[in-house]
Amino acid sequence: MDYAASILGRLPKGSRASGLNRLLSKVKSYLPQDQVNQILDAYEFGAAAHSGQKRISGEPFISHPVEAATILADLHLDAPSIAAAILHDVIEDTPTAKEQLVERFGLEVAELVDGVSKLDQIKFKSRAEAQAESFRKMLLAMVEDIRVILVKLADRTHNMRTLEALPPPKRRRIAKETLEIYAPIANRLGINSIKLELEDLGFKCMYPHRYKVIERSLKRARGNQNRFMRRIADTLRKALGSTGIEASVEGREKHLYGIYKKMLTKSRPLSEIVDVFGFRVIVDNVDDCYRALGLVHKHYKPMPGRFKDYIAIPRVNGYQSLHTTLFGPKGVPIEVQIRTQDMHRVAESGIAAHWQYKASDKLTAAPQARAREWLKSLMEMQDATNSEEFLENVKVDLFPDKVYVFTPNGDILRLPRGATAVDFAYAVHTDVGNRCVAAKIDRRLVPLRSVIKNGQTVQILTARHAKPNPAWVNFVVTAKARTAIRNYLKNLRRGEAAVLGKRLLAQALGEFSMTIRRLSRNRLNEVLRELGVEDLNSLYEQLGLGERMAPLLARSLVQNSDRKHVAGEPAPLTIAGTEGMVVNYARCCFPIPDDPIMGYLSAGKGVMVHRDNCRNLAGYRKQPDKWISVQWEADVNRQFTVEIQVEAVNRMGVLAEVAANIAGTESNIDHVSVMERDGDTSTLVFQLQLKDRKQLARVIRGIHAMPNVLRVTRTRA
Ligand code: MN
Repeated sequence: MDYAASILGRLPKGSRASGLNRLLSKVKSYLPQDQVNQILDAYEFGAAAHSGQKRISGEPFISHPVEAATILADLHLDAPSIAAAILHDVIEDTPTAKEQLVERFGLEVAELVDGVSKLDQIKFKSRAEAQAESFRKMLLAMVEDIRVILVKLADRTHNMRTLEALPPPKRRRIAKETLEIYAPIANRLGINSIKLELEDLGFKCMYPHRYKVIERSLKRARGNQNRFMRRIADTLRKALGSTGIEASVEGREKHLYGIYKKMLTKSRPLSEIVDVFGFRVIVDNVDDCYRALGLVHKHYKPMPGRFKDYIAIPRVNGYQSLHTTLFGPKGVPIEVQIRTQDMHRVAESGIAAHWQYKASDKLTAAPQARAREWLKSLMEMQDATNSEEFLENVKVDLFPDKVYVFTPNGDILRLPRGATAVDFAYAVHTDVGNRCVAAKIDRRLVPLRSVIKNGQTVQILTARHAKPNPAWVNFVVTAKARTAIRNYLKNLRRGEAAVLGKRLLAQALGEFSMTIRRLSRNRLNEVLRELGVEDLNSLYEQLGLGERMAPLLARSLVQNSDRKHVAGEPAPLTIAGTEGMVVNYARCCFPIPDDPIMGYLSAGKGVMVHRDNCRNLAGYRKQPDKWISVQWEADVNRQFTVEIQVEAVNRMGVLAEVAANIAGTESNIDHVSVMERDGDTSTLVFQLQLKDRKQLARVIRGIHAMPNVLRVTRTRA
């Protein structure tokens, strides 16, 4: 008696065996008996662990993991994956420990189950964070072993099939997550069958009414199309057969969610999308693909601009095929996909094709390699960002609306639609991006923000000491560029914060007649430990960013013994205007050198400088520990923004006259607005760039002397 029969014999009678039998007949078709036995063993263990548990639908719990395993068996996944699918909930939902699984099924299966369990175990603050973080964890697990995500996808697919059992709000949440995350991942990995099912199930739950409308009209169309479909298929088969190309021709199923998306993106009516005949032609080799394409074009006229060669340029998930659209009988469009059998396997199963035909060919390794490459780039990205940023970034990657462009060497780069020359530079290499100064598109010099289009050749010019411009963040679209620029700025800011933080501490210590140098090392280390701060430099950074208050820190650093508290204010911190991103100038009162000023520490942002008569100070003064006294350095050498108001006679050309007068004092005008007062006068508001109060006084005097000007004042906050 074989092992299978012995286990089956021991199972309690009931419905659960039918699911198991279906699974067994599937795995037996492609796995050797000893591996089938392993799967049975997993079943026995799982059934025992979950015994007594029921799903919300009332079925015994074990039916769920068995169905998940069956989904993987359809993809011909290996025995450890199938076993892991059967066991995927035992760590989480039963007292079973990972060690038990290691002992019984070996490390491989145990790690897979553990990986899947970890994806479900994370606790979160908010929904958005939860989604982002679970997604991030999923990707990380995937990097370890891509089969973890395959098990997870199968789990989700079965949960989607049985969604009806859940209360509606929960249903919608799961469906939304499925459409936003799981289906795109399945798509990114090329697992078409799972992607389509997840999309249709998600769509059905989110928009039941729209789903029904499309379903009905698709059914009706199918009825009408049958005869036509057969006729076209026959024509194509005969044509191919007559030239000796071995080919199978079949009609192609349309998917509801795909139709719906087309309606949205192409804003075309349902009837136009449904009334399209879809065919797939499968041939033996790549040459035959192109020959078949020629033949098809000879029989039906191709629609211009609708031919796509995904064989020469595969999709990012490894998908390859020729796509063309033809004018069929009565002008009805016919969409034809032409591909080889191998390509077809990859098109249906993507990364899973790798397990189906392990040793067979290079082709099935391509999606695998692409997926790895993708995961690697995600890993690089994830170090630098918080989870929500990360999810935003990955979403760009998951929706492959791409353009293909060439490097000067003829290499093809794939970029999302809307990508700019800067995105291209970063796609080539982070260093190229960080040092790019100009770009040429098709050999013509263009601005770096130029959007690149399909087929263009892009060349990036770099300079050794060039640096990324913060403004680039506003127009780049790729995750890689955005992350690299943000990183660069973050590091720059951290450096600046540390310098400022050290000065703040020195200032605060001054109150105790102490200097950083003379601090007791022991006490310093003690304080670092108490605060949980890694090292002195990190402490300076935190001080500079306003995350810690220097006076409090100074007090705890100065030991009782040598605390000589000097009455009076500590010496103010001097502002030179060169502190960078950690010192900012308030836009309410526009302080400029020579103005009496105060500094306000805001956590994470550093010091905000206000004029000391700024109205906003009143509110801030309630938190005296956040205020620090600051003063301008004697010779500040940069431009600051200041705002003035000019009341003038309402007369043609007066704005131009005032502007010319300002320009004469070598001040730049940043911004002008005009407020109409009444028929006779108007108020002009200028934001100017200038050096200090002396220059401001000159500007004001100059304007004041103009004949049409009634009043000129600096804006008070
Ligand atoms: Mn599950």
